Amino acid sequence: MRNVFGRGFDSRRLHQIMMPHVRYRGSWAAALLLAAVCLAAVLPAAAGDQRTIVLDPGHGGLDVGAKGKFGSLEKDIDLAISKKVKALIEQSQAYRVVLTRDKDVNPSLENRAAIANNNDALVFLSIHVNGSFRKKAQGSETFFMSLNATDEESRRLAYQENREQALDKSIAGADKDDIKMILWDMAQSAYIKQSSQLAELIQAQLNSLLGTANRGIKQADFVVLRGVACPAVLVEAAFISNPEEEQKLVDEAFQDNVAQAVYTGLMRFLAAYGKN
Ligand SMILES: [Zn+2]
Repeated sequence: MRNVFGRGFDSRRLHQIMMPHVRYRGSWAAALLLAAVCLAAVLPAAAGDQRTIVLDPGHGGLDVGAKGKFGSLEKDIDLAISKKVKALIEQSQAYRVVLTRDKDVNPSLENRAAIANNNDALVFLSIHVNGSFRKKAQGSETFFMSLNATDEESRRLAYQENREQALDKSIAGADKDDIKMILWDMAQSAYIKQSSQLAELIQAQLNSLLGTANRGIKQADFVVLRGVACPAVLVEAAFISNPEEEQKLVDEAFQDNVAQAVYTGLMRFLAAYGKN
């Protein structure tokens, strides 16, 4: 009661406001009215006001993403980590979580962004693991969108991640997902500042929880982020192309740590900037 009406709440006063023509006698009717008013005040917060977080496990289907020396595929690890992040978020029941894919399929990059917009997402997180021709490349990094890449390596990575788009078009019907395409070209431009803050908070957690090298926050032109109309980042947890990190990435405890880091960074962002 105190949360809804404040400390000085007086049921007699409320009754007089709601039904001024009826004299207060402490009746059952007053108690019922009060219960109804309280319920109406509390229910929307519990059921209707849940905002949506969209999690996007990279790749899927024929698009396996980056590959490890020991045969691990990026698409499987992206999905496993995303499901762990989903479980963490859902523990509190404060947010609804939508995955752009929950099995081994490959929605097009535009459809992934459209899923975020269709659900009026509060935040969009694309979860990936990295691949490089340099076997020694290691560590985690978090990206937000820019048409101009931070450096040559980021540009190359965005090219690699954007390639799935081309692959999609070669698969008949692959981009005919049963969703309405609500997508605005370059919608992400309006959210660059918030996206950079989100990237910073997630990257800080990855650094402290994973014990991997900090590659920092970077920018590149990721097609999957372009049309998303909310703060959006792309996380590259570690390098599957580095045999040492590949072994970490398939380890359940390491995946739990990645999920925890992403989750904690996200919650800190929502606490600081997610109110509107
Ligand atoms: Zn990827």
